[in-house]
Amino acid sequence: MSTHAPFSLCVYCGSRSGTDPAHEAAARRVGTLIGERGWRLVYGGGRAGLMGVVADATLEAGGTAVGVIPQALMSRELGHTGLTELHVVDTMHQRKQMMAERASAFLALPGGIGTFEELFEVWTWRQLGYHDQPIGLLNVAGYYDDLLAFLARSIDSGFLSTAQHELLNVGDDAAALLTQLASLAATAHRPDDYRSI
Ligand code: AMP
Repeated sequence: MSTHAPFSLCVYCGSRSGTDPAHEAAARRVGTLIGERGWRLVYGGGRAGLMGVVADATLEAGGTAVGVIPQALMSRELGHTGLTELHVVDTMHQRKQMMAERASAFLALPGGIGTFEELFEVWTWRQLGYHDQPIGLLNVAGYYDDLLAFLARSIDSGFLSTAQHELLNVGDDAAALLTQLASLAATAHRPDDYRSI
């Protein structure tokens, strides 16, 4: 990423909106904060669910939104056509690599298995040293409480180290968590590319 590129937050979140209105409100708040701070949203390029909410809020608040979507999802008319940039790629792997290459930091909001997979993958990449970018988890209305309890159990059971766990920045206040990620990203070493993953 050029030093002139804006701070880019890669957001993973649900392609559904969830049943609790707090989830949609949090996605809107995150998008608004990205726009207000003059940042760039990088995300999966969809228009459905929380994905569409965060992208629309970013654009409405004056930010830029970059989507990366596989052709198969685009063909099913699931892509958001009003973005600053929409990259249509061949495979999910290309998509995830392209998203990661553009990210100054990563943030997961409430979501389903797609969100879980993306969060855990980028956390694993961090643990293995493939990148140095900070990772956040926004625990909206306690949605991730059970996951966090399970992670504590994983530490107790000897499968997760405290150091690995601490690579995940958990918070319930969007503005504070975004500030924390930006501050951690300022000292992170960016890889030149992700081709070695
Ligand atoms: P999920 O949490 O299962 O709804 O999946 C959402 C995550 O998976 C997003 O962060 C996207 O990167 C990807 N994804 C899943 N469904 C879609 C879709 N319909 N359009 C674009 N991306 C999607």
